[in-house]
Amino acid sequence: MPNDRIAASVPQPADAIAEVQHISKSFTTDGHERVVLQDISLAINFGEVVAVLGPSGCGKSTLLRILTGLVSATSGAVLCHGQPLHGLHPGAAIVFQNFALYPWLTVHDNVRVGVHRKGLTPTDEAERIRHAIDLVGLEGFEEAYPKELSGGMKQRVGIARAFVGGPEILCMDEPFSALDVLTAESLRSEVYGLWSRGDLGLKSMLLITHLIDEAVFLADRIVILGANPGCIREVVMNPLPHPREYRDSAFVALVDEIHELVTQIHLPERPIAPPTAAPVPEPVPFVQVGEIIGLLAVVHDHGDHINIFELATRLRLELGHVLLAINAAELLDLVDTPKQEVLLTALGREFLAAGDANTRKRIFHRQLRKVPTFAFLVERLRAAPKLHLPAEIVQEELAMHLPNEPPQPLFDTVVTWGRYAELLGYDPATQTVYLDVESTAGPMDGLRA
Ligand code: ADP
Ligand code: MG
Repeated sequence: MPNDRIAASVPQPADAIAEVQHISKSFTTDGHERVVLQDISLAINFGEVVAVLGPSGCGKSTLLRILTGLVSATSGAVLCHGQPLHGLHPGAAIVFQNFALYPWLTVHDNVRVGVHRKGLTPTDEAERIRHAIDLVGLEGFEEAYPKELSGGMKQRVGIARAFVGGPEILCMDEPFSALDVLTAESLRSEVYGLWSRGDLGLKSMLLITHLIDEAVFLADRIVILGANPGCIREVVMNPLPHPREYRDSAFVALVDEIHELVTQIHLPERPIAPPTAAPVPEPVPFVQVGEIIGLLAVVHDHGDHINIFELATRLRLELGHVLLAINAAELLDLVDTPKQEVLLTALGREFLAAGDANTRKRIFHRQLRKVPTFAFLVERLRAAPKLHLPAEIVQEELAMHLPNEPPQPLFDTVVTWGRYAELLGYDPATQTVYLDVESTAGPMDGLRA
């Protein structure tokens, strides 16, 4: 549908702003070639918002990177205004899921990255930056550093940095999925607001998402990808007028219709699984695995339940530290804490009863995968080349999500718990974190098969 902000009388260029024709993309890891995208043709035209919808791992980010020139296609044509694209798309700006801010730069300087080297006069540059910061409501925070900002504010910086260069196409890769639901909803409306004002020079938007209602809220055209290899399975036009309202019956009906399509594509003849949000890291208590096990043993010796103060006395530990150990055990569902009591759960009893180290590790492993921080790392590592990531990257990504946690103890705790559970490994020689082979299978595998 033509966007309401583009007057019918404005002549529109015939060529697509960004386009791929019959592209395929393969990656080779450990000598194995894997086709990630196969025979994809897609054009983003003047005046439209296109959403690409698909489950995690189906190649959405790779498609965005190819359209913007960040990576090359293995075969097929990549075009910019009808001409072969060489290097980066000059009119594209990208908003990343993980914000991708420089931790050592202020808000102002992070936004400046988006206009740097555009050859503006210092006055013009300063004015553009001021305007972009103003648009996303960050005035007053110019001198703040990313670690001082909430997730929503960080993504505002990411959006300002994208807008500041005056892009003609704004490409967003799951831009709101690292945020809580309410923040995501309000930022989504704000981005639509910025687009519909029409005075920013923006001519189109590409949204990568795995959320159906996000696609229906923003996009005029919704492209549904199938997985393994990623290919276009359906294209759905969205005729709903703006402003769109999640609770409108027509909105709900379109979401349902797409839900059904996605289900048929990815889960043929299986029960519908609701789209799960990407896991977001949460703080973990800085305690040793041995302390958790010690705590369980003391509770057990005391008849499987004990008062917290009594527990501190028996463990000969300072109360604050005992509380951390209790938090850790509770996070793993090994104890419950009604009032000032600590009770072993059935799982906690099973853990203790298993005298052998392997059964304990298996229980720890299973529980750890449900802890958001570990679920997040498993997803990141599964998407990483050879399932390895430099420790530095892991630390930075954790710090981005958990700016108030001291990075070193956080990293050390995550690695020691992960190693004990044989979920993660750490290679000190190369300073890389890797996924233990046992951990490469996961809940999304059903979708990928
Ligand atoms: P999505 O964004 O849909 O989650 P991606 O485009 O990130 O998916 O990745 C699609 C597949 O391609 C994944 O299996 C991922 O592991 C793989 N992949 C992505 N980038 C690389 C790379 N640089 N090297 C090897 N494999 C990669
Ligand atoms: Mg992605």
